[in-house]
Amino acid sequence: MQYVSTRGDNNAEKLTASETIVKGIADDGGLYVPESIPKADVPPSELSGFNYNAHALWLLHHFLTDYTPAEMVYCVDSAYNAINFDTPEIAPLVQMPDVSFLELYHGKTLAFKDMALSLLPHLMSTALKKTPNPKTQVILTATSGDTGVSALEGFKDIDGMKIIVFYPENGVSVIQKQHMITQTGNNVHVVGVKGNFDDAQSEVKRIFLDTQLKQQLATDGYEFTSANSINTGRFIPQIVYYFYAYSQLVKSGMSSDEPVNFVVPTGNFGNILAGYYAKKMGLPINKLICASNENKVLFDYFDTGVFDSNRPFHLTTSPSMDILIPSNFERLVHMVKPENGLQERLVKLSAKEQFKLDVPADFVGFYATEQEVQAAIKKVYSEHGYLIDPHTAVAHVAHQKYNKSEKTVIVSTASPYKFAKTVMTSLDSKYQKYDDFALLEQMATLTNGLVPPQFADLKTREVRHNTTVEVNDMKDAVLKILAGGGTAAFHQ
Ligand SMILES: *Cc1c(COP(=O)(O)O)cnc(C)c1O
Repeated sequence: MQYVSTRGDNNAEKLTASETIVKGIADDGGLYVPESIPKADVPPSELSGFNYNAHALWLLHHFLTDYTPAEMVYCVDSAYNAINFDTPEIAPLVQMPDVSFLELYHGKTLAFKDMALSLLPHLMSTALKKTPNPKTQVILTATSGDTGVSALEGFKDIDGMKIIVFYPENGVSVIQKQHMITQTGNNVHVVGVKGNFDDAQSEVKRIFLDTQLKQQLATDGYEFTSANSINTGRFIPQIVYYFYAYSQLVKSGMSSDEPVNFVVPTGNFGNILAGYYAKKMGLPINKLICASNENKVLFDYFDTGVFDSNRPFHLTTSPSMDILIPSNFERLVHMVKPENGLQERLVKLSAKEQFKLDVPADFVGFYATEQEVQAAIKKVYSEHGYLIDPHTAVAHVAHQKYNKSEKTVIVSTASPYKFAKTVMTSLDSKYQKYDDFALLEQMATLTNGLVPPQFADLKTREVRHNTTVEVNDMKDAVLKILAGGGTAAFHQ
């Protein structure tokens, strides 16, 4: 299996999977995609006896063909195990009479990013072993929350890698910040930025493109890479759980080729695109229901066939979906293969100019207002005693609006504990007066459960990273960290 850039022409360079995983993004700025999507070599209905890791090994061998079977077993077992996940099912499917929830939040940071970010570091370090004279890979990331926390957990103490995460000092939740500043690991650096997420993100991009810096780092044996959602090593592992969800339905008695809908709370379009790949491989998916919050670029596109990011930005209670240019949409544009004008459309996509694109019949879109999200959290709890987070609630609203009694799975992307304030105040405004940490305890009592161990001692963990820099000093911070001073160099 070889990979090409979405922006390349027919003669463009082709890479192996491991090469794309180390590289992250193509030199022409495009995203890597497999040359073609393989058909599943076992009928999906015959997988139902297998556990998560067996599903992962089977699925990945279609795509990551330059990894040996032994390497894949090592990567998969290092990712999906009892240390990284709090349930042996890894991604349990909670079945209810009208709909099922696929819980993708049982990893270290209680959000779906862990599904891929538990595996990516092992895929990268294995890829580096295939590379002659590899440099130390420096993962450089600006985060508005989930990706940073999850990447830190995934990359900590991985050989041949360092990770530096910049977060906007006042732009992440109290709990996310506490997670980051207490992060353990010998190769982990976390730095606050006096600016907003966009400032931090733009500066990280500038540091990436700084050719002088690149040369300087190369002499010292370092090379930057990215762990964000456009890396093929994040996107392909996400196909696994669509097959796994289907297997669990078959195991509970569903007939073996019955079509199923998936509702996916969508931001950067990575998760739902993995579902589309699953469908193309032959998984019996009827509709992929794309759920948006008030930043409803994708809803408007699926509704009208016009994609238009040029609009006001809304801050919502589902922040991981507050996105106007979904970076993986470029892969969909490439798949639709408009007769003429693929490249023009990709240029318009990044320039925030509107364009038309035929809507594949596999998708429908719906969106939820903030009020609808709160009402959904309350409704699901009062009817089923089951708590859902605001992102999953957006999907629940989309499912209600789709309003068909077809077999459907809601893809559940974050634990309700991660968004305790929104969840609890949706149930009852009396919770307004509690702080985020107190609410974790309150939430546990509602379901007769326990605060997840991933969060239980969060408040009392030792702070290990208390450096904050101006946006203009971010590059300096990177240099000092790589020169060996660590962030301790700033602590005075
Ligand atoms: C990242 C994220 C999403 C959006 O997923 P995409 O793959 O970017 O569409 C939805 N919910 C949560 C909780 C997330 O962290």
